[in-house]
Amino acid sequence: MSAAPLLPGATLGMLGGGQLGRMFTLAARTMGYRVIVLDPDPDSPAGSLAHSHIEAGYLETSALDALAEACDAVSTEFENVPATALEHLAPHCIVRPHAAAVAPTQDRLAEKAFFDANDLPTVAWAPVRDRAELDSAVARVGTPALLKHARGGYDGKGQAGVERPDEAAAAFESLGEEPCILEQRVTLERELSVIVCRAADGTVACYAPGENVHVGGILATTRVPAAIDDTLAARATDIAARTATALDYCGVLGVELFVSAEGGILLNELAPRPHNSGHYTLDASATTQFEQQVRLLCGLQPGSTRLLSPVAMVNVLGDVWRNGQPDWTRVFDRPEAKLHLYGKLEPRPGRKMGHVNVLAGDPEEALASARAIVTEMGGRPV
Ligand code: AMP
Repeated sequence: MSAAPLLPGATLGMLGGGQLGRMFTLAARTMGYRVIVLDPDPDSPAGSLAHSHIEAGYLETSALDALAEACDAVSTEFENVPATALEHLAPHCIVRPHAAAVAPTQDRLAEKAFFDANDLPTVAWAPVRDRAELDSAVARVGTPALLKHARGGYDGKGQAGVERPDEAAAAFESLGEEPCILEQRVTLERELSVIVCRAADGTVACYAPGENVHVGGILATTRVPAAIDDTLAARATDIAARTATALDYCGVLGVELFVSAEGGILLNELAPRPHNSGHYTLDASATTQFEQQVRLLCGLQPGSTRLLSPVAMVNVLGDVWRNGQPDWTRVFDRPEAKLHLYGKLEPRPGRKMGHVNVLAGDPEEALASARAIVTEMGGRPV
């Protein structure tokens, strides 16, 4: 593998054709790269914008071989692309991030064990791989707690609350008795995320922490800067950067953090890719998180993470279509609002269809405006 960076004209592969793959594709094409997307969905948001779309499953050997053959480098856009797919590609082309850095993010138990092994702060937790482990897990973690599927969950799916110890068995049953993690339910003061860019030579650049609000387990809004002081921001950034370095990560890493009521910072989970809470960078930062993904995949240095304006992002979920076509003029009538739609055909409730970024003089004002836009378009108030 050559240490020379890949330059415009090179071909980049993306495992996964969702909205993140789409925004990667747009960034890569703008910068002069060719893009091939592998995704089983013929209508995937990224597939139609790429130079070519391989319609196949992530573990189909012949499709992975075709991708490796055609591409100089390959990355992934979501953590549920099996690490084995990355392993399969690695001998044939550049793969960033590498499988070993992605694997812990695919399994909540492995992820928490990785945090503990590297002295990275996280919530109290215990494995519940079967019924026999349930009592000792509850004894160790206490209640209230959350039981979560170890694998495959996202956007708050595959989780059950455990208010009292005697609710644990029913919660485990409701999750199909599949391997789970029991987590202490932290009283949250706020939720933050840090988007980390780590280059192949170990150089790290972080965006300022974003402050996130989730509704029903799904990210609703992000505001930047967060309403935190510089010391807390520096601590959050340091934890995120140390996490990327401990993984020997190369690429863009989304690091989700809790600020507890006591003021402690705890790692929640990692996303081995650009993150929904980093979508504000498309309009408010010197470099977007997707340009960073292209740069780092290509062996280039990170671009500037400087914030150009206070900003808020609000997700546009399928719920906005509940009374028919949304009133898009609500966005376009505001000169500082920017609409991003992902080209998804079916607006189901809870499905991420797009987002709106609003620039303003201060983040509170941006957030109020972003929230108002979604409500006026027909969405549920956030
Ligand atoms: P997750 O899919 O694990 O990121 O969970 C989605 C959301 O649920 C988080 O962003 C939090 O708002 C909430 N949550 C998850 N785990 C915990 C926890 N251990 N304590 C408190 N809130 C949590």
